[in-house]
Amino acid sequence: MPDTHPIANGSYQHSEPGEQTELLKRGLVRVSIAASGIDSLLDKRLKELRRALHADSPPSMLAELLPKLEHAVLSADQRRQERASNISKSLHGIIEQLQDNEPPRDTAKALRDLDRRLNDLAELPRQLDSILGDLQQLQGHTLASEPSPEPANLWGRLFGRGERRSESDEAAEEIQAEAETTETSDASPTDDDPAATAEDISELPAPSPKVSGNLSGAEQNFSQVAAHIESILLRLLNDLEVMETQQSIRDRLREQVSRGLNWYELAALLDSLSTVILGSQESRQAEFEHYLQQLNQRLSQFQGSLEEAQSNYSGSLEAERELAGDIRSQVEGLNNNVRDADDLTTLKANVELRLNSLLENIDKARELREERDSQVSAQLNTMVERIQVMELEAKTFRRHLEEQRRQAMLDSLTGLANRAGLQRRMEEEHERWQRYGGRLLLVVLDVDHFKSINDRFGHLAGDKVLRLIAQQLSRRLRKTDFIGRFGGEEFVILMPGVTPEQGATALEELRSGIEHTPFHFKNEPVPVTISIGYTEFRDGDTLDGTFDRADQAMYRAKQDGRNRIVAADTP
Ligand code: GH3
Ligand code: MG
Ligand code: MG
Repeated sequence: MPDTHPIANGSYQHSEPGEQTELLKRGLVRVSIAASGIDSLLDKRLKELRRALHADSPPSMLAELLPKLEHAVLSADQRRQERASNISKSLHGIIEQLQDNEPPRDTAKALRDLDRRLNDLAELPRQLDSILGDLQQLQGHTLASEPSPEPANLWGRLFGRGERRSESDEAAEEIQAEAETTETSDASPTDDDPAATAEDISELPAPSPKVSGNLSGAEQNFSQVAAHIESILLRLLNDLEVMETQQSIRDRLREQVSRGLNWYELAALLDSLSTVILGSQESRQAEFEHYLQQLNQRLSQFQGSLEEAQSNYSGSLEAERELAGDIRSQVEGLNNNVRDADDLTTLKANVELRLNSLLENIDKARELREERDSQVSAQLNTMVERIQVMELEAKTFRRHLEEQRRQAMLDSLTGLANRAGLQRRMEEEHERWQRYGGRLLLVVLDVDHFKSINDRFGHLAGDKVLRLIAQQLSRRLRKTDFIGRFGGEEFVILMPGVTPEQGATALEELRSGIEHTPFHFKNEPVPVTISIGYTEFRDGDTLDGTFDRADQAMYRAKQDGRNRIVAADTP
């Protein structure tokens, strides 16, 4: 349409009436075209309107059409409102679903704002494209995000959906599936080394069965490690010393773990377990405080008895002194009587009187001393008895504490020293070596491809292998060697009084012994080898420096192909 058209250039006021009608008709035609596409009935009426506006049509046709058109406009409007309400409802639903996915905080807030915008139905059709654009973006953010982490929830961190599973975890699933199909067999193990004992780990339960695909990620991840977690919890519950009042809770938890755990029971169980552990710590503390209070009470009783005995003793000394004074004055009186006596009869009577009272006083003195002696000895006896009771209690308590301290230094899986015990012993040996010199070897030992043992046969089998290796180490090393579990599948050995050459021979035997010990899982041989690094303490060596040297040698053994021993000092 050219720009010179009267409507287009706004000059219609100057047109003639006939011309104006024509322009209005054209304008209506255009509006009707613009309004089409909203509603099919309205479209139909608008089409009729355009036909009626045609120059040739009779005006009556237009008059007839207008009420119909009005009706179509109203019903189109109504339907438009219904549609807007339906669209709003559907969009609310989508937003709700996205909110359920726990989007990041700012996305969640933007979703709430968007949800509010949906309530303005009159504005909705105009806003629809912008709303949909925003929604698409927020959907993208929500789906790309990981669920917000649950703070301080260990299991959330261990098995959270956001956690990426490692490649080896996935591999483990495949291998485990294979292991499940392996049938139990009592076939005796092939024994390469006649001296070696067959170590059958097949009585262990097979790895936890795989779960079907409809479990959540967390449950699925949990089920893969459930057996391992159960065995750790059982060990913990067995080792846990609790007070009498908590024993029934501990036993109930143990029973629950033995029956097997599922993902949903775990959190509640851990809650109860932490309560029991905290309770046992508190009551142990209370027990100790009670003991100290008792000890304090006894000591003050003891001090009281001592003071009493002393005051009795000094009191009777005083009485004895008084008596001695009396006796002395009676003897003096006797002397005077004898000197001053005029006649024998009075002298006789006086001497008799004095002698009697003298004898009485002497008797009194003896009684007093006897009484004092028996009092003091009774008090001493009481004190001795009290001291004996105290000694006995202190001894029992000390034994109890020592046992606890010893337990704290032991690894509950293998029975060897744990890291704390090992650290203590290494420090002691290092100090001894610094003071007295001599030979001292430090050995770091790591099981080869242990992860794949766990993966193929399950963690319980892995645990059993660790126990058997620990047994082998204890059996094959000398009494003076000290073995500890450094952590995981790593062990440390201290060999005092051994030259590197002697050490190498012993370690090589150890390595070969483990290699040839036929470990078995069901009817499958489980190859177990170890890599060893060792070094000798040299002048000026610190403990950490020496340990690092042995550790690096062990890593060299790994790099050189595993199942070997490497001395730190070899180039
Ligand atoms: P490498 O030969 O290089 O030492 O390989 P590796 O698989 O032995 O070493 P890696 O460090 O990759 O894996 C060690 C595995 O030992 C991982 C861990 O799951 C497992 N592990 C650690 N402690 C225990 C335990 O107490 N019981 C069981 N069953 N497995 C454990
Ligand atoms: Mg290893
Ligand atoms: Mg290791």
